[in-house]
Amino acid sequence: MKEKIEREFKKLCKSYKRKGVIGFSPLKEAELHPIQKKYLLRNLSTFDWSKPITAISIGVFYTREEINSVPDKWVTKGTNENSWNIYSQACGELNRILNNIASNLAEKFAGISEQATVEGYTRKVKQVEEYYGICVSHRVFAEAAGLGWRGKSGLIITPENGSALRLSTIFIPYEIESTGKEFQGCGDCQACLDICPFLKNEKNYRQNCLLRLKNVGLQNEVCGICIRICREALKK
Ligand code: SF4
Ligand code: SF4
Repeated sequence: MKEKIEREFKKLCKSYKRKGVIGFSPLKEAELHPIQKKYLLRNLSTFDWSKPITAISIGVFYTREEINSVPDKWVTKGTNENSWNIYSQACGELNRILNNIASNLAEKFAGISEQATVEGYTRKVKQVEEYYGICVSHRVFAEAAGLGWRGKSGLIITPENGSALRLSTIFIPYEIESTGKEFQGCGDCQACLDICPFLKNEKNYRQNCLLRLKNVGLQNEVCGICIRICREALKK
């Protein structure tokens, strides 16, 4: 089953001319926020919870060109015409690709897929906590499945492409062994903390980041500076 899913994922990535990563972890091992657990119980209500459930974590990478369109220093404002929008548009494209791949895999393997992101919700949400009850944290499953480690930026850092990827999760009612791995982690790097004024304030960084995404002025509500910086830091 694992190999079949991996093969199918590779094929789908290829059809979108994208590279990606995939991993597996038992749902029962995931450390979920209680509100998210409730959401998941509701969403996976057709599954028999007394039997094993596996979370399939998938990630699709941004290209180098897309990441290099993001400024490599702190910039407060973007514009609608700015080349930074190459990244902004790629973010929307990756979400669509992930949603298609996830629903395709779910259909083929009797699973249930989660959307890559809750489309259009950044505009409506005022507090990050509002997200908790309407989606699952793809990062939790990506970390458990060994796609990468949790970086100082709070993002999943893959050995292949740093944090330059977007994630989605599919749940299947079968047992597949965990692909979780140990990574060395960020070490003494703190490039993302040095560039983003919000990341230093660990407690409120998510809320401050959300407000910045709303105000940065790009075509989609994104920023990505910590993602570009991380990719460069890993290459050194
Ligand atoms: S995406 Fe958020 S955390 Fe990353 S640099 Fe921009 S504001 Fe900071
Ligand atoms: S920039 Fe450095 S410290 Fe920040 S997440 Fe990437 S590797 Fe970790």
